Amino acid sequence: MSGFPKILESTQDLSKGQISTLISMAKSLKEGQNTPFFFDQDKRPFLATLFLENSTRTKTSFAIAAQKLGAHYIDFDVSTSSLKKGESLEETLLTLKYQGVNACVIRTPNSGELAQFKKDPPLCIINGGDGTNQHPTQALLDLFTLYELGLDPQGKTFAIIGDIAHSRVASSLVDLLTRFGGKIVFCGPKECLPKSVSGPVMLTESLDEALELCDVIYTLRIQKERHTGPTPYYDSYHKLYGLNLQKMQGLKKAPVILHPGPVNIGVELSKDLVRSPFYKGYEQVINSIYMRMAIISATLGN
Ligand code: ASP
Repeated sequence: MSGFPKILESTQDLSKGQISTLISMAKSLKEGQNTPFFFDQDKRPFLATLFLENSTRTKTSFAIAAQKLGAHYIDFDVSTSSLKKGESLEETLLTLKYQGVNACVIRTPNSGELAQFKKDPPLCIINGGDGTNQHPTQALLDLFTLYELGLDPQGKTFAIIGDIAHSRVASSLVDLLTRFGGKIVFCGPKECLPKSVSGPVMLTESLDEALELCDVIYTLRIQKERHTGPTPYYDSYHKLYGLNLQKMQGLKKAPVILHPGPVNIGVELSKDLVRSPFYKGYEQVINSIYMRMAIISATLGN
């Protein structure tokens, strides 16, 4: 794809045209079409993952996606690396580059840490989540999933329920959904809501109001690891903001539920709901492989 960024730090790095192309690429990869996106056997690139925070879905899906495309995959082990001897991320990336690594998916707890590489990128970088800032590949796979479910965001209202203030997923997702014509209702206890919002975004502390307005529900985990202040709302969270099958069955509309994972069962969603047809989190997991294949192919096809 022409002009695809060497560093995918944010959804804002992509034009609407590039996002639509990624969605078509992911769709044809999922349909098993004979796409031109696979790497030639004599030119197999090297892709590494470097994760400074825990991950189940993002890291594994990048590993699978890279190998499905025919790339070599390196699971860079931060805990036994020289990052633990004080080497900087920049020196580490330069070392990987000179060893022949072509692209690195990085997850870091530090918001905005990857922006430093934009001016003179040591190698291709894909943001696998940085602090509370951005998680662009999650939002792209969510948008792909919505289209797969027949839910074009244009004119639809999305209730994003949970710890929005500390969520990098929310920032990336809101950017994509609003650019594609969606409206947003942020819902949660006041400690979890942003102080201010702009564009087609509203805030409410009332779950019932959010559920009445929305066509799609997107739930978020309470990001306990990022909380420093008091969190008195933890204990009552499930009662006030958690969803269960009975509650969903009582709604006039029957909105689907997405969740980026990991779900804390019994907090934001009950187990019966996660096992019900309302829940589309496993579709997101399936689609993550194809969207991440598209992103790797676009990045290394430069
Ligand atoms: N997996 C997502 C992330 O890394 C969401 C979460 O952890 O709650 O941001």
